[in-house]
Amino acid sequence: MAVILDGKVLAAKLKEDIKEQVAALKGEGVAPKLAVILVGDDPASQVYVRNKKRDCEEVGIISQSITLPADTGREELTGIIKSLNADSSVHGILVQLPLPDGLDGTEITQLIAPEKDVDAFSYYNVGRIMTGDYSFVPCTPAGCMELIKLSGVAVEGKNCVVIGRSNIVGKPMAMLLMQENGTVTVCHSRTVNLADITRRADILVAAIGRAGFVTGDMIKEGAVVIDVGINRCEDGKLRGDCDFDSCAAKASFITPVPGGVGPMTRVMLLKNTINAAIIQGGKENA
Ligand code: NAD
Repeated sequence: MAVILDGKVLAAKLKEDIKEQVAALKGEGVAPKLAVILVGDDPASQVYVRNKKRDCEEVGIISQSITLPADTGREELTGIIKSLNADSSVHGILVQLPLPDGLDGTEITQLIAPEKDVDAFSYYNVGRIMTGDYSFVPCTPAGCMELIKLSGVAVEGKNCVVIGRSNIVGKPMAMLLMQENGTVTVCHSRTVNLADITRRADILVAAIGRAGFVTGDMIKEGAVVIDVGINRCEDGKLRGDCDFDSCAAKASFITPVPGGVGPMTRVMLLKNTINAAIIQGGKENA
């Protein structure tokens, strides 16, 4: 039976470290601040933004929420981002995605100054991740790496399989694993004979968006299984992309859903905000 990699416990521990870092920065005259822009009234986005605000408050990061109506135009939003870019009291800027129809999330993200792009979605920061020379890592893959580290299993030389090739999870996840000297295979919706590939994985990351998609017969005995998926099922429960019981019976380590990657994603945003404050506060070179 697999050991559970508890994201809640690890996130709480990391939050304590971040709290200390925030206090130290404040002592040096730098008060880390994150601005979060929410356009429209998507209920899930409202929850995410509320959680981000609460997380910031818990560790002493100043949070500024900017809530705009769904019919906000591109020019108005551009103006707001530009003024936040120019505001030296703001260290991190995040635009909650998805944006309402008529606003292109990818395009809007590019407007954020790279040193304040704490989601690391801008082309500049994506490029830095590609080259292995980065200040910010997208929060979800960064959280997954922390959970792998918690397992104590070294990535170096391991067969790592990532299912999913999205820009925010799958692709950067593959880059981070490669950076740690893993041998990485990325699978996706057009992959042929998926199970043959996943069965070779020492470390398997599932970021698909289909509840219970990965079953125990698809994984190698002793694999480390990182389940990124968050799927709201018909019974109202949240489930991951991995069928927990059959995978846990075979894996050496596994992340639960909820309580695995989710809390780690949230804490990584705080970490990126601190990094942004350190860089902009002149406390360290970018
Ligand atoms: P996405 O829809 O952008 O990408 C899904 C990927 O899965 C695609 O690359 C697709 O090729 C692949 N895929 C789909 N069907 C497949 C199949 N049959 N076989 C193999 N691959 C298949 O999704 P995303 O944004 O990367 O998110 C993936 C999941 O992770 C979702 O459940 C999402 O809710 C969750 N998520 C969780 C967190 C977190 O903090 N825990 C953060 C981001 C996303």
